[in-house]
Amino acid sequence: MDKIKMTTPLVEMDGDEMTRILWKMIKDELLLPFIDLKTEYYDLGLEYRDETNDQVTVDSALAAKKYGVAVKCATITPNAARVKEYNLKEMYKSPNGTIRAILDGTVFRAPIVVKGIEPTVKTWKKPITIARHAYGDVYKASEMKIPGKGKAEIVYTAEDGTETRELIHEFDGPGIVQGMHNLNGSIDSFARSCFNYALETHQDLWFATKDTISKKYDHTFKDIFQDIYDADYKEKFEKAGIEYFYTLIDDAVARVIRSEGGYIWACKNYDGDVMSDMVATAFGSLAMMTSVLVAPDGTTEYEAAHGTVQRHYYKHLKGEETSTNSVATIFAWSGALRKRGKLDGIDELVTFADKLEKATIDTIESGTMTKDLALITTLENVNTVNSEDFIKAIRATLENLLNA
Ligand code: NAD
Repeated sequence: MDKIKMTTPLVEMDGDEMTRILWKMIKDELLLPFIDLKTEYYDLGLEYRDETNDQVTVDSALAAKKYGVAVKCATITPNAARVKEYNLKEMYKSPNGTIRAILDGTVFRAPIVVKGIEPTVKTWKKPITIARHAYGDVYKASEMKIPGKGKAEIVYTAEDGTETRELIHEFDGPGIVQGMHNLNGSIDSFARSCFNYALETHQDLWFATKDTISKKYDHTFKDIFQDIYDADYKEKFEKAGIEYFYTLIDDAVARVIRSEGGYIWACKNYDGDVMSDMVATAFGSLAMMTSVLVAPDGTTEYEAAHGTVQRHYYKHLKGEETSTNSVATIFAWSGALRKRGKLDGIDELVTFADKLEKATIDTIESGTMTKDLALITTLENVNTVNSEDFIKAIRATLENLLNA
């Protein structure tokens, strides 16, 4: 069989620890034998980030902007312990944060649903994708402890010096205040990323805030979404047969729990933080969660939602066997290859991505899985395998699918 040809390179962002080991296995077993893989390689492993004073992270994000599609391995975000462990020149920022700041994107997280790993919520049949706005609100707030009697106000001073004031509270005794903000431009980008992603994945889009209580702050989110939808997306959604709908966050929560899944739930920053962990846990496992960063200009970066699985890496270094789940990292590759295939009109690449995902799911559903899944599966006759044998089992399933 001829290898599938690519015309534009994928931006490949290599990473750290156990996921770096899996990254190479996935390429060697599941990609290179079948695809004439074209990538522009950036090593975001911590040693090389340190060597380049983190310039490599910036370069990789700029390359993603240039080519449009990137695939990223999990990376270490250094803390004090890591600075010592890797003898770093400084405590570099999170690569994901750096990349997100350059691409200005929204992160979409979706669980990979397989038979045998049952969601805690019995009605959920299809994945629920959480789109989290990743700018502002309580994450960039100013707070104050009020010591006693007195008045707290919000003051906006315009460029010409005019002041606008709004009373927060006349305090009789001690209390607390918080001031937070967002930007219309950022909400606009968030909305566009959500509408584009809904069209691309052909799913309904839900958006919810508490606009009945927060009549200016949350209401602005609601209005911006609605204005952009009416002006630029209504027709496209109708043509695609999908729906955008806005509701109150408490109504959304009730609907989500009763739903079958199969839609995108757009959340403000804090709601998205909390709800994505709830959805991931209720669907079964962090190792089965994909993460996609979509920028308003369409640049897309695929990755696994989990980290570098440090504990397994130390076992690996000691020569011990590991059983690390590579599913989310495989899906990061398949997502990126599918997107590249669609952009470049290479149908074989799109079909390959579909078959790679099917082979991965079929392998688990036939009972072969890593330990994290074996512990929670409802399947009987489970064959628990190590990291490498899991990827080899997927390869065997994939070869059957490709030859069929
Ligand atoms: P982690 O996701 O690596 O692990 C959290 C827990 O889930 C661990 O118990 C781990 O054993 C389990 N787990 C996660 N993925 C698994 C998999 N594929 N197979 C089996 N078990 C799995 O997060 P952590 O331990 O908090 O962080 C480890 C490192 O990863 C840190 O240095 C952190 O900075 C980094 N990190 C990176 C990203 C990213 O690049 N997107 C995200 C989170 C954490």
